[in-house]
Amino acid sequence: MKKQLIFATANTHKLEEVGKVIDHSKFELVNLKDVGITEDIEETGDTLEANALIKARYVVERTKSNVFSEDTGLEVDTLGGDPGVITARYAGPQKDAHDNMDLLIKNLEGKEDRSAQFRAVIALIIDGQEVLFEGIVRGSIAKEKSGVEGFGYDPIFIPEGYDKTFAELPDEIKLGMSHRTRAVNKMVEFLG
Ligand code: IMP
Repeated sequence: MKKQLIFATANTHKLEEVGKVIDHSKFELVNLKDVGITEDIEETGDTLEANALIKARYVVERTKSNVFSEDTGLEVDTLGGDPGVITARYAGPQKDAHDNMDLLIKNLEGKEDRSAQFRAVIALIIDGQEVLFEGIVRGSIAKEKSGVEGFGYDPIFIPEGYDKTFAELPDEIKLGMSHRTRAVNKMVEFLG
């Protein structure tokens, strides 16, 4: 029998990406709009794990159903793991992708080490049990923005083994190796 899972996100890019990697013969993926949750869920935690749990618990409370949520941070080695938990609002509360990328490029000016990683944390709450899964993709930060695919910081993230950004690469490449896919695959394995 198919397991129904609510994906606690309003981000259409994330819904599309996860929708492409989940096996629809095993899982029925439901989104927040489908269950009538349209308000912003505030991310007040100081780690990705805490924020993922806040979102998942909020939705469980409202729906009493099985839920997973996902929180991602871009962690830059030479910046001590920043922007990390504030990745979405790095350049301010407007959460603008171009402002964020411009600030990161500026903060890395003159730095030789541009290595970084996307880290995704999934919080799954199933039958009342809370489980966390992590997915990481290593890479480096480009000196300028290139490409139009994907979203967020994709135009400046060059995954390891490539010389193009996620936004320049075909989406199957990102889907095959991304932080989010890796975390989702671990969750799917756990669910059996
Ligand atoms: P959140 O997980 O929705 O809070 O996203 C945190 C920040 O990371 C936002 O600025 C997103 O745009 C960015 N982000 C999340 N996933 C990706 C991705 O796969 N590629 C590029 N940026 C991402």
